[in-house]
Amino acid sequence: MRGPAAARKGGEGDVFTRIGAFLAQHGLSPEPAHYMFAYTIVTEPDGVIAQAVARLTDGGFRLSRRDIETLGGTVVAGAPIAAEPVAPPPTEPSHADLLEDAAVRLVAETQAQVDDFATMMRAMQDETRGFGRDLAQSAATLERPRGSVADGLGEIARITGTMLARVREAEARLASATHEADALRTKLAEANDTARRDALTGLPNRRAFEEAFAVRDERDAPYCLAVCDIDRFKRINDVHGHPVGDRVLSAVGRALAEECRGQLVVRHGGEEFAILLHGITLADAASHLDFVRSVVAGKRFRVRESDSAIGQVTLSIGITAVQAGESSAAAFDRADRLLYTAKAEGRDRVCAA
Ligand code: GH3
Ligand code: MG
Ligand code: MG
Repeated sequence: MRGPAAARKGGEGDVFTRIGAFLAQHGLSPEPAHYMFAYTIVTEPDGVIAQAVARLTDGGFRLSRRDIETLGGTVVAGAPIAAEPVAPPPTEPSHADLLEDAAVRLVAETQAQVDDFATMMRAMQDETRGFGRDLAQSAATLERPRGSVADGLGEIARITGTMLARVREAEARLASATHEADALRTKLAEANDTARRDALTGLPNRRAFEEAFAVRDERDAPYCLAVCDIDRFKRINDVHGHPVGDRVLSAVGRALAEECRGQLVVRHGGEEFAILLHGITLADAASHLDFVRSVVAGKRFRVRESDSAIGQVTLSIGITAVQAGESSAAAFDRADRLLYTAKAEGRDRVCAA
């Protein structure tokens, strides 16, 4: 078998990319069994199996389950990638949301697949190393001449030496495959993080919020949820332009994160931030959020280029206690209604209930 490094040198692009493309082309989910089958074909393009696949798929045909099994592969039951529907979220999803959902699902699946690959490679590496050690010992024993059979033994030692060199070669190949899998794992971990972070403010995003809310530990109760919305933000955009609006958003996000360190502060969307606080009563959380509101209101924002004043930036905040076992939608809805009340009562205030 040619190793992934060799395959990459001679091939078009990264071996993992080509394996991914093969799985997608044939509607195979990224199960380890499918992965192994694709790996054989991608890394041995001149092999018997790859050539049989080329014949079967000539004209753009997709491999059938029977084709794969005939070629020694295994098809794991389950929906193929191409036919797998994206579960619709409860609210109207945007096109970008759907794309992001699909990307996150794929990243998670690929991450699991790469983990399997790295574990497998490590096991193979250990095995080869053990085998090499045994052979080295045998060769050392055989090289000691013993009477009339010395010549024969010398020959055996030569053969063993050749095998040893091959084992070393295989070891190097496996080490490079392991390195490749580790690098991919790091890249995927980064992609997972990116999918849960807002690009403008660098804060966690709504997805990260939903995930954290869903796995919240009741031992950290009581929980409170605050929804903070910048007042009259549209006006900042209208008067100073969108890029200035962006900078104000980042500055407000930074202030919230600093003043609520240890709590989960996310950009929930637009000019709205959500804060999931734990280990704090509603009365204390509301009082702290009122302090945070005053910190933001006390800042004096200026346009960097012209040094002209943007004026005061204020927040309206709705805050509520999260009940045990409650859904994020229910808690959010309550906090959002309180936020609406804060707006209706004149903005730049906290409404708690
Ligand atoms: P209110 O006090 O009622 O909340 O008024 P508002 O102007 O803040 O609320 P409205 O919902 O009318 O406007 C929100 C604006 O936020 C409109 C939208 O263009 C702007 N916005 C949303 N996301 C971004 C962003 O990422 N960057 C910038 N610059 N503006 C954004
Ligand atoms: Mg607003
Ligand atoms: Mg808003």
